[in-house]
Order: sequence, then C-alpha cells, then structure tokens
Amino acid sequence: MLDIQKIRQDFPILNEVVHGKSLVYFDNAATTQKPLPVLEALANYYGHYNANIHRGIHFLAEKATSAFEASRHKIQTFLNASRVEEIIFTYGTTDGINLVAQSYGRTFLKEGDEIIISTLEHHSNIVPWQMLCEEKGCVLRVIPINDAGELLMDEFEKMLSERTKLVSVVHVSNALGTINPVAEIIKKAHEVGAKVLIDGAQATSHIDIDVQALDCDFYVFSLHKLYGPTGMGVLYGKTDILNAMPPYRGGGEMIKEVTFEKTTYNDLPYKFEAGTPNIADVVATKMAVEYVEALGKQAIADYEHELLVYGTDALQSIEGLRIVGTAKEKVSVLSFVMEGIHPQDIGVILDQQGIAVRTGHHCTQPLMKRLGIVGTSRASFAVYNTKEEIDKLVVGLERVKKMLS
Ligand code: PLP
Repeated sequence: MLDIQKIRQDFPILNEVVHGKSLVYFDNAATTQKPLPVLEALANYYGHYNANIHRGIHFLAEKATSAFEASRHKIQTFLNASRVEEIIFTYGTTDGINLVAQSYGRTFLKEGDEIIISTLEHHSNIVPWQMLCEEKGCVLRVIPINDAGELLMDEFEKMLSERTKLVSVVHVSNALGTINPVAEIIKKAHEVGAKVLIDGAQATSHIDIDVQALDCDFYVFSLHKLYGPTGMGVLYGKTDILNAMPPYRGGGEMIKEVTFEKTTYNDLPYKFEAGTPNIADVVATKMAVEYVEALGKQAIADYEHELLVYGTDALQSIEGLRIVGTAKEKVSVLSFVMEGIHPQDIGVILDQQGIAVRTGHHCTQPLMKRLGIVGTSRASFAVYNTKEEIDKLVVGLERVKKMLS
C-alpha cells in the first residue's frame, strides 16, 4: 500500500495556492509534477559539477559524463533493452518520432509503401509521417476505432500487406486513456515484415515496459510525463536497425573524424546525439525513474486504477456529463463533455477553484472529429492525487453547471 500523504510531501508544488485555493493538479497527461529527488538532482548538477560531457578530461567533465551515462544505463534496465547503446537521448517523444521518420523513413521507405497509424494518435505521431509521405510518395493508412475509443483490430489486420512497411501506434491514448494491444499489433505487423514504432508518451508512468518482450523495433517517450524533466526524451531502437540508419542531425559528438572531404560517424548511441545535449535533465532523469521504481509500477497502477474507478463513478453521477472514452483497458484519464457547455468554459471555471484540467482537442484533432466533438475536458490522475481531490472536482463541476446551464 502506498502512503499517498507521504508521497505528496515529495512534490512541493502541490502546496501551491491558486486563486486562493489549494492546488488540485489533474493535468498529468500533459505533464507530471516533479519530486524532490529530481529537483535536487538538477540543482546539484548546476551547483556542483556543471561541465560539458564526453570530451573533457578534467574532474567536473568526468563526473558529469559518468552521471549522464548512468542515466542511460538506468533507462536500459527500465525498458529492459538488451544493450545500452540502444538508448538514444532525444528532446521528447515528438523528437524521437521525427528522428525515425527522417532517418529510417527517408532511407528505407519508397513510393507506394504504406505506413499505418491509428485514429487515436497524437499529432506528433501523425504529422511526421504525413511529411514523409509527401516527400516519398508513401501512403498513410489509419486504423479506425469504435465509439468506446478502442482500435478495430479486424480492420487493422485487413490493412496489413506486403506494402506495409511501418506501423506507428500509440501505446496509451492521451485523450481517452485507452490502452492499445500493442503486443498483438507488433506481432501482426512483423508477420508481413513491417517495422513497428510505439509511442509510449502516456504509457511509461502507468505500465511496465519490456521492449524485448514486446519485440517492438522502436519505442519513444518523454520524461516529463514520468515525473522527470521537460525537454528530455528517449528513443529505444533495435541495434541492427539503428546501425543501418543514417544520422539525423550533423554536428559535434556524432562524428568519429571530420575532414572537408569526408566525415565518418560515431558509433551508437552517439551517432544520433549531435551537439551538447540536455545534460542536467538527462542526469535528473535517473532520479525520476528511481523514484517510480521505488514506489513500484504495479502499486502505482493499482492505486491509479482505484482513482479511475472512483472518478468514473463520481463523474457519472453528474447529470448532463458524458465520459468520452470507455475502453475496457484504460489508464487513469477521464475525458468528458457536458451538455451545452464548452470545454474551455469548464476549464476556466475549474481553474478559479484551483483545479487544473486540460481542455480542447488534446493534439488529437482527427480523433475529436471521429467522435463528433470539438474537444473534451480531461482530468488525468497521477500517483499523488487523492479521492478528496476528485470530490472537489465534482463540486467544481456542479458549480460549472449552476453557472452555465
Ligand atoms: N504522444 C502522446 C500520446 C502524447 O500524449 C504526447 C504529449 O502529450 C506526445 C506524443 C508528444 O510528447 P512531447 O510533447 O513530450 O514530445
């Protein structure tokens, strides 16, 4: 059993007062708050061993390099990747997907090849593929969903053919919380020889990830949704595939030798890490992952599920409110609409009561179109949230109704 009150003390921001009310932070799918060990790691790095990494031979440079590389080892074990060089540091999920589209996609895909995504995708797993399709003449295909927000797997299977070269799908939907059957998707895609990228932006804080068991070719995520820093992400890729891919960006770090005639590139993972990286945030990443591991992924998932069940019941008791996204398998995301009330107005009135939710299309405009709505209000729960906070949300929503309907 997690001691939630003790956990809350690790997150100083939860003591903030907003518009005269104690903050209730329900915007965790956008970004999670950061615990003390992460905040301390950032201050400690800048205060005690800030230096550029890899090339320096002085004490600070060596200390910074070893902290930086320790984070890579931590991510390797976190994902159960077989080799540490399969872990590429990026600036986030968006950056990781663009890396694969621009490097793998531009090299290995050609006119007429098909890329499959799904209706549930975030814009960052749509637009990079559209850009690639425009350039290379590839065809983008989209797995449809049912009204609960679940993928129609039969339709997916019908789409697969020898023309399918890449399948790129979200593990957990940020807008609805749906958990996709990614293991099955990967297996089916591999049967026709396609490579698979999984967008894990919303999954890593809720679900145990084992890239070897999943057998995905690429897995991308952002640390800021896992209690870690912003501007920091990970691309996992299988060694053989990463080795076959050309660099994405050119510059320092990613080279072995540069002459004006010809440059040779560095080995993995550095080949994909041009320029001075986000050192402090990479270093603090280790503390974020250790924090989650110390609590235990299963314990976090169990508690968040309890919040989801409680929140679902509580919100359903509000007349005129409809929960959007009712998949059987879902994480602690509650998207909803209220009859006759614009999601933005809900967000503004809740904010006045110190309650932070997200409103709008959640960077999933095609999904909203499919569902026939302009957007939703979304409360997404993290391990530090409580049932009392959900009760405050219900009171807040009743006030919204009183004011606007
Ligand atoms: N994919 C999903 C499912 C997301 O929820 C997000 C962010 O909300 C992203 C991709 C993009 O992540 P980032 O903005 O950290 O690159």
